[in-house]
Amino acid sequence: MSYYTDLKTGHDIASFVRRQVKSAEEIATTVDGSPIQVVKLGGGRKPAILLKAGNHSSEIAGIHALLTFLAEGLQSPFETHIIPCGSPFDFGGYRFALEWASETKVHIEDDEQCLAELTRLGRKVYEGEHFILFEVRNTLFTWVDRKKLDSRRLFYGQLDTLTLRDPELRAILSGKRIFFPNELYYPEDYGSYDQAGLVGWTSPDGYVSNLNRLYDRYDVPPELWSIRDYCERLKPAMVIDLHESCINTRIPEKLKRSGEQLGNHFLILPPVHAPSYEAIETPVAEAMVAATGNAGFDCFTLSQLEAAWGYPDTDYFHGYLRKDVRDGMPFYRWAIRFADVSITTETSMDMPIEKRVMIHITLVNAAIEAFSRFL
Ligand SMILES: [Zn+2]
Repeated sequence: MSYYTDLKTGHDIASFVRRQVKSAEEIATTVDGSPIQVVKLGGGRKPAILLKAGNHSSEIAGIHALLTFLAEGLQSPFETHIIPCGSPFDFGGYRFALEWASETKVHIEDDEQCLAELTRLGRKVYEGEHFILFEVRNTLFTWVDRKKLDSRRLFYGQLDTLTLRDPELRAILSGKRIFFPNELYYPEDYGSYDQAGLVGWTSPDGYVSNLNRLYDRYDVPPELWSIRDYCERLKPAMVIDLHESCINTRIPEKLKRSGEQLGNHFLILPPVHAPSYEAIETPVAEAMVAATGNAGFDCFTLSQLEAAWGYPDTDYFHGYLRKDVRDGMPFYRWAIRFADVSITTETSMDMPIEKRVMIHITLVNAAIEAFSRFL
């Protein structure tokens, strides 16, 4: 198991992948020229499996887990297609994106420097309460007064509300990528601007979201249509999408004080059931939860999940939930049109990166092993 500290950008990932395997397919190129790659591993047995990570580039453990399979091998009887990093441009992070957009060297270590650099290099296009939007080369960069506003809150919902209300702001943002300073949960040695950006995109009708919420839209960036096209051709019977979560911040203090140890990970299964969910998908999920438990990684309990997500109706189980009523169409929900098994893995990002990578590796291995018993 490895965490590849020298991979700082999507280009670094692409070179790493090319060094590991000769036959990486490049299904699209994103804005800075970094490719979205697919690598085929495993045996020749059909149906195919798809493993994917990095649509949310700040959730880096899944990317490193899939790169570890490329470097060290993967035990799978099935034809296994791997997309190690779905958003390679965003993986470079805020400062990298601003350097790309402005074509100059950028110095940002803190929020004050960020404002100075954006003022120097960008055009101010909008000023909101505790944040300012700057545009550089068709890309938006958000400055946030983080003493007063959590930039994750702005990203998850607040900007969307403003955009839907304000046609002028909608016109500014439409069709553009937006970078936000990341609040938390990098590996220990990274700052908010260093790597793996918190990134959104705005549809023409003013829907601001992260790239994993737009699989049902057709005016989307290459990160989405290329993966969608590939899957429509391949029709994998099992997809595992590797993500990470800040779920621990949503667990109420009362529950934390109860003495029950917080989990290390959980799974999300589609709330709209895949065709064979009872026969295949649920047993695969349970096998994943059991395997990580045996390896010493606890999953979130039913009561912790329920408390963290807080949906009115419950569809929670030990280690996973079948309920996610947030907006948009994430990959795992879109994929059930062809997949019998569609599962999102979520490790808790407050743990050391090596542990998060190991959990993803254990989950993927368990999923393949369990799937082979059904097909
Ligand atoms: Zn995610």
